[in-house]
Amino acid sequence: MEKTLILIKPDAIEKRLTGVILDRIESLGLQLASAKVAVVTEKLAREHYANLAGTPFVDNVVKFMMGNFNNIENRRVYAFVYKGEDAIAKVRHIIGVTDPDKADPWTIRGQFGQKKNGVIQNCVHASGSQEDAEREIALWFKPEEIVE
Ligand code: UDP
Ligand code: MG
Repeated sequence: MEKTLILIKPDAIEKRLTGVILDRIESLGLQLASAKVAVVTEKLAREHYANLAGTPFVDNVVKFMMGNFNNIENRRVYAFVYKGEDAIAKVRHIIGVTDPDKADPWTIRGQFGQKKNGVIQNCVHASGSQEDAEREIALWFKPEEIVE
């Protein structure tokens, strides 16, 4: 059984899209294994996006994940672990590709994402590979918070 990390990003929180996004993820038939409201420190944001270190946009992405570009309280994101067969690919399929202008219009990012303040505000993060998922889940959750 594969596990994947989902983050509802600050733009989606501001736009009140949490329910819409979870409804679509729930339709995949995966099992929810953990959920929390997480306060995003700069350290956590930089570790989560360690693969973006050195890019010209990393600082703006970190600020975005800390809620600096959206009208929300407490630098929060909502974090979820879902598990199930092919969980990673199934979730990536329905969220769409990174750039909302290129994402299929029926996907979450295609429908609700936008480029603003020099950053792609695309509503949701989902792990891209098993290696990423393991690293990301360990970053956002303690082992005992995951229900097996
Ligand atoms: N991002 C951005 N500009 C870019 C590339 C990425 O603002 O040119 C942001 C965007 O929010 C994206 C995140 O950084 O979701 C992580 O980038 P990645 O390439 O890992 O895309 P993802 O895996 O989220 O589709
Ligand atoms: Mg990625």
